[in-house]
Amino acid sequence: AGLIVSFGEMLIDFVPTVSGVSLAEAPGFLKAPGGAPANVAIAVARLGGRCAFLGKLGDDEFGRMLAAILQENGVDDAGVSFDAGARTALAFVTLRADGEREFMFYRNPSADMLLTEAELNLDLIRKAAIFHYGSISLITEPCRWAHLKAMEAAKEAGALLSYDPNLRLPLWPSAVEAREQILSIWDQADIIKVSDVELEFLTGTESVEDEVAMRLWRPCLKLLLVTLGEKGCKYYTKDFHGSVESYAVKQVDTTGAGDAFVGALLGKIVEDQSALQDEKKLRDLLRFANACGAITTTKKGAIPSLPTAAEAMQLMGSA
Ligand code: ATP
Repeated sequence: AGLIVSFGEMLIDFVPTVSGVSLAEAPGFLKAPGGAPANVAIAVARLGGRCAFLGKLGDDEFGRMLAAILQENGVDDAGVSFDAGARTALAFVTLRADGEREFMFYRNPSADMLLTEAELNLDLIRKAAIFHYGSISLITEPCRWAHLKAMEAAKEAGALLSYDPNLRLPLWPSAVEAREQILSIWDQADIIKVSDVELEFLTGTESVEDEVAMRLWRPCLKLLLVTLGEKGCKYYTKDFHGSVESYAVKQVDTTGAGDAFVGALLGKIVEDQSALQDEKKLRDLLRFANACGAITTTKKGAIPSLPTAAEAMQLMGSA
């Protein structure tokens, strides 16, 4: 199968050892490696696909730990560079008892934000059948410019471009800027996945109705997806649209569900692009992606809970 290259940030989330506390109340924290583009790369590899991660880490204990995690999980790290002067990004994150997520980021600036155009592994980018990215790498220079150049190189070499904005509002200077920048690269993508929350944010409308989602449609898009948590997902192509239900699971921690969904989707599309034109194939593929997302919610953390293909098939078979 073709190579998937996932571009962007990899970092460590520090999550409280006990649930339902504020950051200040937390008695201690556990390291949870993450960063959506890195999670997607590992999701692809765990499902048996070929994937490389492209981004920058600090030349420190945590950066080397993250690179080792990529390797242990079968992700090519030839596109990873290290910054001698800046630290690996850290985020402290908790789900408080009132259901609110509380974040504290240590990125002042972190190594991922300092990736330059000169550091891009263009050989790797040009080998990509699918080039995937988010929007956090658009927040500051020089990474923003490197991101745009990487997209350009991938497109020129014939890759499909896949975009999951993964909105993290506290990282942006303002909501207006977040919306503008996220939408500034909308027209280049072939595949876009948003969550229901991102759809509402980007359209400014509190609804996930088809006519609202269609405001995010562009003629050059091949597939637009809206994920709906336990309700599954909606899909839109130029010829057809619909929705696919997910599988019932006991949800423990949703972190990484969207990334597992994207990894499963891209892993299947890289094997057979005809799913983009064939509604039956696409619906089968989305059932698999939903199962992968669902399984990821059943355990704490993103990377430990990403499923194998056998686990996903088992959930689908038992439904
Ligand atoms: P993330 O938490 O990684 O940011 P997201 O908001 O991008 O996730 P979700 O919509 O939460 O994405 O989940 C992605 C997919 O995973 C859904 O479309 C669905 O198929 C599956 N999923 C998520 N939560 C559940 C659940 N509780 N039960 C069943 N399936 C789920």
